[in-house]
Amino acid sequence: MTAELISGKELSESIREGIKKDVESLKEKDINPHITVVLIGNDPASLSYVKGKEKAAAKLGMSSEVIRLDEKTEEKELIDLVDELNKNDEVHGILVQLPLPDHMDEQVIVEKIDPKKDVDGFHPLNVGRMMLGQETLLPCTPFGVMKMLESKDIIIEGKNAVIVGSSNIVGKPMGQLLLAKEATVTNCHIKTKDLKAYTKMADILVVAAGKAHLINDEHVKEGAVVIDVGINRLEDGTMTGDVDFEKVKDKVSYISPVPGGVGPMTITMLLYNTVLACKRIENIDE
Ligand code: NAD
Repeated sequence: MTAELISGKELSESIREGIKKDVESLKEKDINPHITVVLIGNDPASLSYVKGKEKAAAKLGMSSEVIRLDEKTEEKELIDLVDELNKNDEVHGILVQLPLPDHMDEQVIVEKIDPKKDVDGFHPLNVGRMMLGQETLLPCTPFGVMKMLESKDIIIEGKNAVIVGSSNIVGKPMGQLLLAKEATVTNCHIKTKDLKAYTKMADILVVAAGKAHLINDEHVKEGAVVIDVGINRLEDGTMTGDVDFEKVKDKVSYISPVPGGVGPMTITMLLYNTVLACKRIENIDE
């Protein structure tokens, strides 16, 4: 069996077309969806993510601003900035790029963001609402994975879904979203004994561990659906996922590549969330 590719790049393009149309029709109503990204310090990976977000927003005609703060900025100064953005009626989405410098408490900052403008979906109120299946803003990466599964009409109900990774931003919300669709969910992590025993049971396997080629053909069941969230840089600078694509692709039914898989979907869902936040704040029908 050779797997069908789930291209996040292609799917992103079609979702972005829809977002672009939404932005245009909001602008006709004199509403200008706007995202502000706050970047502290000079971490090259964060800088490149932020640039990617800015570029993608511009392509959709969406207004965005990046506020850059010095690495040594006091936590209080960042809190004051977030307060200001919360109050600013022209700002619909606020994203504070993580990780923050060590002298800042990420949780304190995330909790300061107005949940209505929390386009990353990391505020505890939004996380709780997601768990309860209430209206919220979903975290972009797992939201993107759900869209990828949906795009191929992959049945989730009743399936064994295994997630390798249990972080707050990917693994845990991924499990919640799959559970909400009535999969039987297992979240694995670094302390999981005999990882293979779990991954081999997966009808749907989502890998978000941050370890290059952690998953190979011995870890997957014949015909499984495999989504690779991992982003790793090899010594020669090439980007690769957590799944050994070449070894796995002939055994499974669907697989997402790296690059061109989950990565573009994450940015797309951020822009999607910004338009959604804008519509809710401005009381426009979704
Ligand atoms: P994290 O480091 O916060 O969490 C990693 C999780 O994987 C932890 O729960 C850890 O216990 C588990 N883990 C690590 N090694 C393991 C192993 N050998 N066996 C089993 N479990 C193991 O990372 P994160 O923020 O959740 O991100 C995970 C990966 O996804 C990273 O490569 C990151 O770059 C990538 N990522 C990609 C996107 C995207 O848009 N494509 C978005 C976010 C994160």
